[in-house]
Amino acid sequence: MNLHLDDKELASCVSCGLCLPHCPTFRVTGEELLSPRGRIAAMRAVQWEGAEVTPAFVDAMETCVQCRGCEPACPSGVPYGRLQEGVRDTLAAERRITPRWQRMAFAMLPRHRLLLVGSTALAVAQRARLVPKRLGLPRLPLRRPKAVRATGTEAWLFTGCVMDAWQRHTHRATATVLDHLEVRYAVPGSGGGCCGALHTHAGLLPSARQLAERVMASMPGDAPVLVNSAGCGAAMKEYGHLLGTAEARAFSDRVVDIHEFVAERVHLLRPARHMGAVLVQDPCHLRHVQKVHGAVRTVLTAVAQVLELDDDGLCCGAGGAYSALQPDLAGDIRTRKLAAIDRAGGGLVASANPGCAMHLAAAGATVQHPIDIVAAAL
Ligand code: SF4
Ligand code: SF4
Repeated sequence: MNLHLDDKELASCVSCGLCLPHCPTFRVTGEELLSPRGRIAAMRAVQWEGAEVTPAFVDAMETCVQCRGCEPACPSGVPYGRLQEGVRDTLAAERRITPRWQRMAFAMLPRHRLLLVGSTALAVAQRARLVPKRLGLPRLPLRRPKAVRATGTEAWLFTGCVMDAWQRHTHRATATVLDHLEVRYAVPGSGGGCCGALHTHAGLLPSARQLAERVMASMPGDAPVLVNSAGCGAAMKEYGHLLGTAEARAFSDRVVDIHEFVAERVHLLRPARHMGAVLVQDPCHLRHVQKVHGAVRTVLTAVAQVLELDDDGLCCGAGGAYSALQPDLAGDIRTRKLAAIDRAGGGLVASANPGCAMHLAAAGATVQHPIDIVAAAL
């Protein structure tokens, strides 16, 4: 099978193995095939040598968390994320991954009203103990606060799909912080409800491209697009690559993680109280993809004592829908993160990605979004 990968990108790996300690699936299994180097070797065997796409090959690709922890560790600059997305695009088109039930679930994400109703039904089912614990879902809210409303046009506040359904309180907190900074914001118009990150992860690139076009159309103009979900922000900063147009590149340039935005204005924050010690957990898409994890520290330092984990930003195993689709590996990876949290003394953990926060909270950690903590201090 031709995987349709860029041969130059595929050839750029020199098999040095420096990425291996940064790969969560290699760390918990010790298997070469479940490391970046092993996965790239398997991609080469299929694309260059005509090796068969076996169940073991498919499993090696599906078990990759797509955390991209291997990218900053790589001295050859291998664009691993692009290779993995390319493989998944081909495997999904050939119906080797992402079965029908998953496609139906992903298709629900941009239908926001349906998603809100479905989330409430899921919360009720949880209370009735009808949702298997294996799925690793935290306790979902039966009620959610009112949606944020536009206050002006200086910036767009992207609210997304799952985050608005499950963690709308963080949007309210973001609005509180923006109000405090006297920044007037708009909310996306129709079609701006899902960035397509989970579709890209699942190899559904045609759907991801459609959603990207809709998101771009929902937030026209030049104002910055503020995003408080690390995974969504990373996906939107890569629209330029996903769509390959000048318009998409210009849109991506407008996308700003909320911590970057607040960090530039941190001197304007007037906290009413100090929030005590907070451990910072870096979501992979903030640290390895957007590379703006320093801004979280700048913002939190204004209201709290920031404590660090000692695991060099290793993935927590959430990976978008990964924790639900690969619960065993996701659980093993999370165990390492929880051990790092324990070594640092436990307590409140700040995580700037809803998936990481829910994954860690489902195992008993106390997790809040950094902006929730800042808003509470104001
Ligand atoms: S993206 Fe993450 S899980 Fe996948 S190979 Fe790279 S480090 Fe490993
Ligand atoms: S991906 Fe990079 S770090 Fe990993 S083996 Fe290949 S060249 Fe080395």
